[in-house]
Amino acid sequence: MQVLKFGGTSVGSIENMIAVRHIIDTPETKIVVLSAMSGTTNTLTQIADCARDRNFLKFQKLSNALQEQYDQVIEQLFTNTTIRAIVIGYVDEVFAEIDRLVQEDTYSQIIDDAIVAQGELLSTFIFSNFLKQEGLQASLLPALDFMRIDNNQEPDKYYIKEIVHRLIDKNTSGTIYITQGFICRDFEGRVSNLKRGGSDYTATILGAAIGASEVQIWTDIDGFHNNDPRFVEHTQALPVLSYDEAAELAYFGAKILHPQTVQPLRGQKIPLRLKNTLHPQALGTLVTHNPVGKGVKAIAAKDGIIAIKIKSARMLQSHGFLRKVFEIFERYETSIDMITTSEIAISLTIDDDTYLTMIEKELSVFSQVTIDKEQSIICLVGNEVNRDTQTPQLFQLLRDVHVRMISYGGSDHNISLLVATENKQQALQLLQGYMFQEELSV
Ligand code: ADP
Ligand code: ASP
Ligand code: MG
Repeated sequence: MQVLKFGGTSVGSIENMIAVRHIIDTPETKIVVLSAMSGTTNTLTQIADCARDRNFLKFQKLSNALQEQYDQVIEQLFTNTTIRAIVIGYVDEVFAEIDRLVQEDTYSQIIDDAIVAQGELLSTFIFSNFLKQEGLQASLLPALDFMRIDNNQEPDKYYIKEIVHRLIDKNTSGTIYITQGFICRDFEGRVSNLKRGGSDYTATILGAAIGASEVQIWTDIDGFHNNDPRFVEHTQALPVLSYDEAAELAYFGAKILHPQTVQPLRGQKIPLRLKNTLHPQALGTLVTHNPVGKGVKAIAAKDGIIAIKIKSARMLQSHGFLRKVFEIFERYETSIDMITTSEIAISLTIDDDTYLTMIEKELSVFSQVTIDKEQSIICLVGNEVNRDTQTPQLFQLLRDVHVRMISYGGSDHNISLLVATENKQQALQLLQGYMFQEELSV
């Protein structure tokens, strides 16, 4: 069985929903994971902010505009009046529920999560009814019945596996199971989610749970590109990536995949394929356990990085200094991405500033601390990048961009550079021109 996930743009218009319907109309039984229609989760997040700020006027405007969009989609998509009436009834209920949640007396994260979850509930209900209208055998598999995270925010894989098998075996009528990406329950049964972009993760968690033959992520681009197409022109789709390479690129900002997407597939070596909904003939990218080729294959960048420089004369020839520093970060459950050291200073980066003030205060007791925000990590990924004879030449770039930190040799498939976010695009473009010049001239 395969798991096919379709992202926001794939279900974001009538034309694209029709394209999805054709892609999934094959005889094999499959699970189809859907995101919310594009833009919906962003609006729901803004609505949740209105609930927090008690800004009911803004809420009403946002809610009306969103419902108007859904009304238009339903109007165009459903020719069968009985099915249309059922869908209109459901959408009305969802908007009434959002209204009820916003008006609750006390705002909490629980309210926020419940509001944000409505997008996937809407898209799956609409799409499964569309399939019904088109005469396809489809049944809804409610993610809130089986997708659960534990108190470490990790998927509860034994629970998920057991329940999914039970639901699929019991429901024999449909060959296409439609389920919601992104949303789940926490260990206390409350509605929660797998963080923004989490539908990719839903697909691979499910793929592992059912021992899928393949997981496919269908989106608006023809596969994993060798650089970020939002900032660089002439990027190219990569035919193959290894799990390590894809995971590293996703962690370091390649938006095409949620950072944890690859992880559930590794153990069972389930292939992951990235495909373009609007161009299904394109090869796409296959992510597999076999590393292929050598040298830098792709570049990604992650924003919102904070650089911390910790300087202390006491570090000179003393041991235990690093432990003292790391203990502080451990206590505040803040993970470090990059680190470089010299005789009297350590530079490191974090992306979570929740406890920054406290961390700074504790470090300042024994060192001089400098903090720089708005930094970006640029990550160059490939198989054995550190051993490739071409790789060191990238340091020629240092002439043109101010590189604040470099991490080289930490792993065989990653080199990371830290630059100010304002220099990120320039750095990505220079790297593209430099690293992939041969491919571009072909
Ligand atoms: P979906 O809504 O289908 O999940 P996303 O917007 O999350 O789609 O991911 C697809 C987008 O990721 C692309 O449109 C592209 O702009 C962006 N992207 C960033 N880096 C890459 C990359 N290396 N390869 C392909 N797309 C990328
Ligand atoms: N709808 C969610 C989001 O916009 C999840 C996803 O699209 O993967 O983040
Ligand atoms: Mg996405």
